[in-house]
Amino acid sequence: MKKTLAFVVPIVLALTIGVFGSYMQTSALEHWYPTLVKSPLTPPAIVFPIAWTVLYVLMGISLGVMVAKGDMSLVRIWLLQLLVNFLWSIGFFTLRSPLMGLIIILVLDVLVFAYILYAIGHNRLAAWIFVPYMLWLLFATYLTGYIYLNNDTVGYRTINAANITNTNINMSTATQLSAPALHYAADALAPTMSRETIDYHYSRHLKGYFDNLNRLIAGTPYENMNLEQIVMHSNGAIFNNAAQALNHILFFDNLTPSQGQMPKRLQQAIIRDFGSVENFKEQFTAAATSLFGSGWVWLVEDKSGKLSIVSTSNADTPLRQGLNPLLVLDVWEHAYYIDHRNRRADFINGWWNIANWQTAEERLQQ
Ligand code: MN
Repeated sequence: MKKTLAFVVPIVLALTIGVFGSYMQTSALEHWYPTLVKSPLTPPAIVFPIAWTVLYVLMGISLGVMVAKGDMSLVRIWLLQLLVNFLWSIGFFTLRSPLMGLIIILVLDVLVFAYILYAIGHNRLAAWIFVPYMLWLLFATYLTGYIYLNNDTVGYRTINAANITNTNINMSTATQLSAPALHYAADALAPTMSRETIDYHYSRHLKGYFDNLNRLIAGTPYENMNLEQIVMHSNGAIFNNAAQALNHILFFDNLTPSQGQMPKRLQQAIIRDFGSVENFKEQFTAAATSLFGSGWVWLVEDKSGKLSIVSTSNADTPLRQGLNPLLVLDVWEHAYYIDHRNRRADFINGWWNIANWQTAEERLQQ
């Protein structure tokens, strides 16, 4: 009975960790992993769960062989490698970081090699049973290293998988992505945004993001995605240019020379979640004024319909947090420097008169 337990406990433990690890991978496997450039030696997807199931069982048997004979000396290193094995799932898939995945798997290689070396001196069978695992890990290290070297990724980024069909933004899926036309004249937003600002901001900055993006995605899996899908799935330079393109589309869509009254549904939602329209404007202005460096301030709606104000740095977008953007203000210096020089507060004050309540309300989902 005790001998049976010596095998059953480590096998069940290893398989449980394996199942939990693959559960932590689910979202990344669906949304992120398919977009990566991978080694031509990568086996078909079905090979991975089968291989890992076999290896987790072997892992358990190896320890069982030792423990059944009353030798507990390898239990600690065995548990440690299992923990690091699980951390690999978190680092590579859940955090979507090939660099972290590579570092963790190198640590795992060392631990598993040490286990085998140590086991040789105690029980050769236990050592041999671990060898297929070691070989598979070396192969997985190569695959992870290939992904790290061939993908444009930032080292550490936590992403919540959001439903990419969650917004009302219509994007073309044409290969050459481009900005939609403005729905107002280039000089219609003066004095807050002069024709010259529009000329630089829309015709040069925004066009530049699209030009870079089209160049970067050529020949990659992103080529077949629409802009929003690219924003949801990319990292690094591709993400920066795609997100800047999308953020600017929303920003320019959110402007109007003829503002009018705030529509009722939007007004009621704002009063419900901020107390009053004045409170909302005050909080939004404070967020926009205090945002350090380059970035964006957003009025967003969460999945339950609740509105809140969110600030993002550089190109970051609340879409990646599963939030629905209703209204956005660009507080990069290029948005106001021509008309207002360094006076961001003047720009924000002026912007309240050209913010487009209609388009904000049209994006409300609840
Ligand atoms: Mn801008």
